[in-house]
Amino acid sequence: MSRDDKSSSKPEIQRLFFALWPPVELSRELYQLAGNVLRDGTGRRVVPENIHLTLAFLGLVNASFRECAEQAAAAIRATCFTLMLEKMGNWSKSGILWVGPNQTPPPLLQLVQELNAVLAGCGYEAEQRPYAAHLTLARQARPRQAIHPIEPRAWEINRFHLVRSHTHADGARYEILRSWPLNSPAA
Ligand code: ATP
Ligand code: MG
Repeated sequence: MSRDDKSSSKPEIQRLFFALWPPVELSRELYQLAGNVLRDGTGRRVVPENIHLTLAFLGLVNASFRECAEQAAAAIRATCFTLMLEKMGNWSKSGILWVGPNQTPPPLLQLVQELNAVLAGCGYEAEQRPYAAHLTLARQARPRQAIHPIEPRAWEINRFHLVRSHTHADGARYEILRSWPLNSPAA
């Protein structure tokens, strides 16, 4: 299964990923933040409704894989957590402008690892690179500043989603297919 092959005429094949989705106010703030940084006119900003944090990218999968992934997700027992968005950076090779935490909170890492583990039972091969928690705010960006702190924003995470990516000529559109709650931390 190719993760990046977008061309398929088979209707049962879908491009899926697991993600965290920010509340709309936070997405709007982040969109504006990217606009302030990209005043030089470079970069293609991600529209607020598309801003997200990817947990696991499944790529193109068939209906039985999706079914397996949904059952696997239902077995996750991870806890709610706060994600602090504290810094902005730019991966110069890809031109991606992003925001993220100074340190990946352990419950986020645990959620990603649990997902990878249960999805392995569906034949999923997890990303080999270390997990880099980030929300992409723009592409083809060439901001003058490298990584720098931003005014911290706290994002309370209490659920995760299975998302379908629809590819259009003018960019991707995302559809949240299903959501699962995270457990409240033990008192
Ligand atoms: P586009 O590809 O049209 O520019 P996109 O990258 O936002 O848009 P998708 O390619 O469908 O949309 O990817 C959905 C999410 O999964 C994005 O957050 C993307 O960064 C991530 N992703 C895509 N490909 C991979 C991959 N091979 N490994 C890990 N994450 C990926
Ligand atoms: Mg992509």
